[in-house]
Amino acid sequence: MSTASAFAINAPSFLNANSSSLKKSSSQLRPARFTCNSSSSSSSSSATPPSLIRNEPVFAAPAPIITPNWTEEMGTESYDEAIAALKKLLIEKGELEPVAAARIDQITAQVAAAPEVKAAFDPVERIKSGFVKFKTEKFITNPALYNELSQGQSPKFMVFACSDSRVCPSHVLDFQPGEAFVVRNVANMVPPFDKVKYAGVGAAVEYAVLHLKVQEIIVIGHSRCGGIKGLMTFPDEGPHTTDFIEDWVKVCLPAKSKVIAETNGAVLDDQCVQCEKEAVNVSLGNLLTYPFVRDGLVKKTLALKGGHYDFVNGTFELWGLDFGLSTPTSVKDVATIMRWKL
Ligand SMILES: [Zn+2]
Repeated sequence: MSTASAFAINAPSFLNANSSSLKKSSSQLRPARFTCNSSSSSSSSSATPPSLIRNEPVFAAPAPIITPNWTEEMGTESYDEAIAALKKLLIEKGELEPVAAARIDQITAQVAAAPEVKAAFDPVERIKSGFVKFKTEKFITNPALYNELSQGQSPKFMVFACSDSRVCPSHVLDFQPGEAFVVRNVANMVPPFDKVKYAGVGAAVEYAVLHLKVQEIIVIGHSRCGGIKGLMTFPDEGPHTTDFIEDWVKVCLPAKSKVIAETNGAVLDDQCVQCEKEAVNVSLGNLLTYPFVRDGLVKKTLALKGGHYDFVNGTFELWGLDFGLSTPTSVKDVATIMRWKL
């Protein structure tokens, strides 16, 4: 089915505009919108899973063509300065042409050598077919649920899961809409209470506990986590090579220290599996630094659980922590660990 008319996207002209005109022209940047009828013929999705999944630490990514200086400067620039720098880079990009040309030649050769050429990936068509499938198979067939959800939400779970594309908790645990209030970030970490540094996570925990009154907070780690592998392999000291990632995963530095102390000499992959679980425990401990979480535990209106999803072996490990009332020195000291292997 042709969607060209409904999904025509004009090439943005902002590269030739100054930043103030860019802001003024925001009304021109309306999102593509589509409606779905149950009789649509495009409900059968031909989408295939992405083929770009890589089991490599994020730090192994090749250096970008754009110079590191550009990246470093981005953090201190204003919006206008960033736009000006981008325009300057585009003007100067002639210097990059040999690199780009070589890469294009390489890709062209690979495509020519491939036995068959796959159809070009169309992101709009993929999103459209996904929504059509959801609407026809779920939204329309369950009006009672979606009517109820239109009035509000009262999820029983708050879930911390990794941003990894393989570990969506709604898929792995079959959470239905309205069941779980989810935060996803690199390596599913809960940082300690900090109004300035970690306001985003703090807002989510506060909203889930005080307003939604969730009954369970579960932190779920997973196998072959790139963030945990990064934590285990990057140097603890010295300058960072990333803007955010190294600083972020240090939230669970105590887990790395514990694993190294207890598994000295073990191969890295085994240490990573251990760290994936210990990092969950560090996050559970960090949840205790939020006063409203502690209150919920004391009043027994809230419980904390840890989990580990292993997509290599297809298993899920769940453990519960029954905290005492005294101020904890570590999760292990105060928690009764209940373990279920599923
Ligand atoms: Zn991960």
